[in-house]
Amino acid sequence: MHPKTAFSEDVALNMLRSDLHRWYLEHERPLPWREKPEPYGTWLCEVIMQQTRIDQGTAYWERFMHRWPNFQALANASVDEVLKEWQGLGYYSRARNLHKAAQIISEEFPNGYPQEMNQWLALPGVGTYTAAAICSICFETPVAAVDGNVLRVLSRFLGIHEPIDRPSGRKPLETFAQAWVDPKNPGRHNQAIMELGALTCTPNAPDCASCPLQKKCASSFMPHKKGSLPPFKQGKIKVQDVALQFHVIVHNGLVLMNKRPDSGVWGGLWAFPTSEKPGLPAAETDQPPASLNERLISRGPCGTPVKHLLSHRRLHVQFWLWLLPENESLDWGEWHTWESAMELALPRVLESCWTDVKNSAEQKESKTVA
Ligand code: SF4
Repeated sequence: MHPKTAFSEDVALNMLRSDLHRWYLEHERPLPWREKPEPYGTWLCEVIMQQTRIDQGTAYWERFMHRWPNFQALANASVDEVLKEWQGLGYYSRARNLHKAAQIISEEFPNGYPQEMNQWLALPGVGTYTAAAICSICFETPVAAVDGNVLRVLSRFLGIHEPIDRPSGRKPLETFAQAWVDPKNPGRHNQAIMELGALTCTPNAPDCASCPLQKKCASSFMPHKKGSLPPFKQGKIKVQDVALQFHVIVHNGLVLMNKRPDSGVWGGLWAFPTSEKPGLPAAETDQPPASLNERLISRGPCGTPVKHLLSHRRLHVQFWLWLLPENESLDWGEWHTWESAMELALPRVLESCWTDVKNSAEQKESKTVA
């Protein structure tokens, strides 16, 4: 590169940084983890906020900080307690990884915490973005933290129309982001771009008139019709329909609950035994599913069927009631009262229909007994 060009680029980058930082001084939202940034709260916030709205995530962050204020406290909790506190946030592997990582940190750094990018990257659930955010905010490591907000701002600013889920689109964005990081204050710089993406360069209605990057932005004068601005993606995940049946098995007022395996949907959470098959459910719900077990007596559908969307599966959920007769036994899980079952870490879909299913099951069970 010609020295004059390099010099001009440096000056331009510096000016852009100053514009961005001035904007951030005025617009930074007062979020609790920004008051006194430290590694534990920053890490917790980064994990909770993945795939989560900020208003919803803030309440979870505050509860976690109150209950487990440091790595050691979280490491000493049981995984069930952590999953229960996480309930409703979805993507439960994040909670299990959070707990595992806290245990590793408390064992390997008994009086502290990791401070290097590679130490954070070695922990479960910590990717490049999270490690960069923690290290730049807490240790002033000059690395770019590139999340979805940053990709959106920079792809528009640079006019990158290549798909950002392909190296040809993503690489120039990461290279620019790294060149642009403020070496003196990388944490605030990274947070400023993310904030710009969250508040001004929003997905569907960027407010270019009040954007500090407007004068140099390749997209500010383009039509802002939906879908016309970067970022673009090549691959879209196809959503698959799945018919899922929850088997509500009751016995003397108790209900059978299973702990799901750690991997897969709702890993480590508690639920009724399930069966599922790809596609839509049969329209009729008044026919019993294939017999689960010869000791069980089918009592028909219970509660109202619901639909529940996961990242790439649309679940068509039905509940089916089964009675286990007086002198029979079944060792498929744990028997609970409806009240104690409700205290377990449940998938959100069960939590939302719990009262409906419980009332319907109790009504049908009492009719049978009568
Ligand atoms: S000028 Fe508009 S499109 Fe460009 S970065 Fe700012 S808000 Fe986004």
